[in-house]
Amino acid sequence: MSIQWRPLAPTVFLVSRDGGRPLLYAPLQGLVMETNAAYAERFAAALGGDEGAARSIGVEPELLVRLAEVPDAVSRRLDPEWPDAFAPAAVTLFLTHKCTLRCAYCYCDGGAGRDIEWPVLVSAVRFALGNAARAGRDLKVAFHGGDVGAVWPLFERAVGFITEESAAAGVRPVLSIGTNGVYTPRQAAFIARHVRNATVSIDGVAEVHDRYRTRPDGGASLDDVLRTLRVFEDGGLAYSVRMTVTAESLPRLAESVAFICENTAARSIRAEPLYTRGRATASDLQAPEPEAFVPAFREARAVAAAHGRRLTYSGARLSGGSTAFCSYPSPTFGVTPDGDLTCCYEILHPEDPLAGAFFYGRIASDGAIEVDAERVSAIRAGARERRLGCAHCFCVFACAGDCAAKAIDSGRPAGGATTRCEITRALVYDMLLAALEGARSDGERVLVRKAEP
Ligand code: SF4
Ligand code: SF4
Ligand code: SF4
Repeated sequence: MSIQWRPLAPTVFLVSRDGGRPLLYAPLQGLVMETNAAYAERFAAALGGDEGAARSIGVEPELLVRLAEVPDAVSRRLDPEWPDAFAPAAVTLFLTHKCTLRCAYCYCDGGAGRDIEWPVLVSAVRFALGNAARAGRDLKVAFHGGDVGAVWPLFERAVGFITEESAAAGVRPVLSIGTNGVYTPRQAAFIARHVRNATVSIDGVAEVHDRYRTRPDGGASLDDVLRTLRVFEDGGLAYSVRMTVTAESLPRLAESVAFICENTAARSIRAEPLYTRGRATASDLQAPEPEAFVPAFREARAVAAAHGRRLTYSGARLSGGSTAFCSYPSPTFGVTPDGDLTCCYEILHPEDPLAGAFFYGRIASDGAIEVDAERVSAIRAGARERRLGCAHCFCVFACAGDCAAKAIDSGRPAGGATTRCEITRALVYDMLLAALEGARSDGERVLVRKAEP
C-alpha cells in the first residue's frame, strides 16, 4: 500500500500507489487525472514554464496558471483574518470528568474528577448566547465529557436553562451531544426531545464493544446502548456512530461494521484507530498498524456501502483549503469542568501535559471570563506552522497537519510524518481512484479527466 507522491507545484501533485500509473492531483481545483510517466514529466516541465512541453501535451497556458494559483477564497480560509474580539456563538460544555463507563482506552480518565460549577456554566452559555443574538445566529451548544449520564440532574438543569434563556433572547438553541449512549429509557427520551444530533460510541459486535467499553463493575454496556438508540430513533433524533479500533479488534472490523449497520440507523460510521493516551497506555492496548488498518478499513467500507451507509476515517478528506485539521485555532470555545477554556475536545484536565498547548483562559467561580490573547495567538501560530510544515504532502489542503493533539503528543515536528499519515494518504488515494471511476464522494467536487498518453 505504499503511496508515492511528488509536488510539481505547491498546488499540484503526482501521486501513485505501489509504483503504478501516477495520478495528477490539483486539490484546490478539484482536478484528478490519470497519467503515465512521460505525460507527467511533460506536465511538470510545462508547469515550470516550458511552452514546448505544454504544447506537446495540449495543455493551455491558462490552465497551468489556474492550477498553480491559490484562489483568493482558499487563501482567506488558509490564513483567515482573525477577529480582534473573542465572540463565539457556539460553546462546548464538558459538564464533568465523571462517566458511567470505564473504557479501557479512555483518553480523559473518564470516571475520575470534578463537575462544572453552575455559575461557570451560566456565564459560558450567556456569553455564547449574547454573541449569537448580536450576530443573528443560532446558539450552538455541544455536550461532551465525561458523560452527561454521570451528572444527569445537572444536564437536565443545563438544558432547561439553555432553552429558557434562548427563548427569552429570541435565539434558536441547537444542541448536540457526544455520548456513550448508556441511559435509562427516560433519559434517552429526554435527549431525543431536546438534542438535534448525537454521536454515539459503539465499537462493534458484543465481544469487541463489551471488551473495551465496560461499566465501572466491569459489566457489559452494548445492550443498553442499543436500547438507547431505539429510543433516539422513535424520537426522531439523528445520530452517527464512532468506533475506536485497536490492533486486537481490527480483524473483526468488517463484521463489526455489518453489526452496526444491521442494528442501528446510523447513516455515517466513523472508524478511528486507537490513539494511545490516557488509560490506553496503562491498559497496554495497541493501535493497529497502518498496513493492517487500511485493507481492513477497505473491506469494512465496502460492507457499509452495501448497506447504504458511509464508513469514514477522519483524515481521509478531499475538500480543499483548511486552516487546520479541526476548528481548534478559532479557538473552539470549550469549557472544562474546572472552568478552563480549552480548544480541544480531548484535553480537559489541567494536569494533562498538553493543557498548556490547548488551554487559553478560564471562567472564574464568579463567572468572569478571562481569555489569554497571547495563548490564542500562539495556538493560531502553531496551527499555521503545522500546516505549512506539511506543504510537501498531497493531503495538506484537507488534512492540514492532522489532529494537533495527536501531533503534539507524538512529538512529531511540523512536516514530520506519523503512522496516521500513512493511513490518511492511502485512503485519500482511494478517494481519488473512486473519483476517477466516477463514484462521486459525498459532498466532494472532483473534476475527472483522463490524460492522453
Ligand atoms: S471514553 Fe468516553 S465513555 Fe468511555 S470512559 Fe472515557 S469519557 Fe467515558
Ligand atoms: S485537536 Fe484533535 S483531538 Fe483536539 S479537537 Fe481537534 S481533532 Fe479533536
Ligand atoms: S499530517 Fe501527514 S497526511 Fe496530513 S498533511 Fe501532514 S504529512 Fe500529510
